[in-house]
Amino acid sequence: MNPAAPSPVLTVLVPAYNEAENIGPFLARLIPALEALGRSFEIVLIDDGSADGTWARWTEASQNDPRLRGLKFSRNFGKEIAIAAGLDHARGEAVILIDADLQHPPEVIADFVHEWEQGYDVVYGVRQDRGTDSALRKNLTQLFYKMFRTFGEIPLPEGAGDFRLMDRKVVKALRQLGERARFSKGLYAWVGFESKGVPFVVAERAAGESKFSFRKLFRFAFDGITSFSTLPLQLWTHAGILISVPALAAAIFFLIRTMMQGTDVPGYASLIVSVMFFSGVQLISLGVIGGYVGRIFAEVKRRPLYIVAEESGPDAEPPRRRNA
Ligand code: UDP
Ligand code: MG
Repeated sequence: MNPAAPSPVLTVLVPAYNEAENIGPFLARLIPALEALGRSFEIVLIDDGSADGTWARWTEASQNDPRLRGLKFSRNFGKEIAIAAGLDHARGEAVILIDADLQHPPEVIADFVHEWEQGYDVVYGVRQDRGTDSALRKNLTQLFYKMFRTFGEIPLPEGAGDFRLMDRKVVKALRQLGERARFSKGLYAWVGFESKGVPFVVAERAAGESKFSFRKLFRFAFDGITSFSTLPLQLWTHAGILISVPALAAAIFFLIRTMMQGTDVPGYASLIVSVMFFSGVQLISLGVIGGYVGRIFAEVKRRPLYIVAEESGPDAEPPRRRNA
């Protein structure tokens, strides 16, 4: 990093995974929107291991514009980690997160900056509708938020996503959270600070498809719950008590009945059913514990969160040429 370069007022972080077609239209809308604010800015792209020329488009654009910087991951690490890397590299007084697919209208940034100057440390975009999502995804999202509200240790603001502005001190706080399984929405809520929501309408994706499959979303939801709640672990104690107390009562009842009346017809069916049911319960509880143990394992390995393969921008190291 060049210490002589003055740090900009605003840093815009753009996580991008296979968004080559969107880079051009995205910059064509973002840059005028930022210039209209009359504040110095930098735009940092975090290329999350794209395989489609996203990085080439970005470096091409940044050759003529010193306000554009970029990081390229060595592989796909996921959006949450791309955000973490962006926060590590942001230099601005305020940091803005925005998707590269134009689903977050860049013009809303003006409202964010306005509220920030009124003294709010965090200004987040509140989705007005999820019209662009499928019905199934909408319902599952709602179910997740309901579960998080009941289980989670902190409340999540409704409709708040990654489209947001954060003051430098919030970014500093977030940098201190070194956990591997990243659930940003929970982390934002966990660090606190004066926050304000600004409504915006989610647009259709400009080009390409959503990078989040249902499998990815389920994993994300599991990370979210397990990062902010230990209730799934404690639940099994209650379940155990609930099952074993009646079981003990039943054992005493059968013992007394056998002593008084002798054995009657052996209950094969009920035996099998209860054995199967309770082995199922045990396997589920083991799975939940396994989930947490896996998370502990991931944390204790202390691997770096991400690997940067390349950087671009005015003070990035030039890429090393092979055989040079
Ligand atoms: N993204 C990323 N890494 C991933 C998946 C997505 O950096 O592994 C980026 C993506 O390029 C986009 C943003 O995160 O800029 C939001 O992703 P997407 O539009 O696919 O999600 P959705 O809008 O459907 O929630
Ligand atoms: Mg999108």
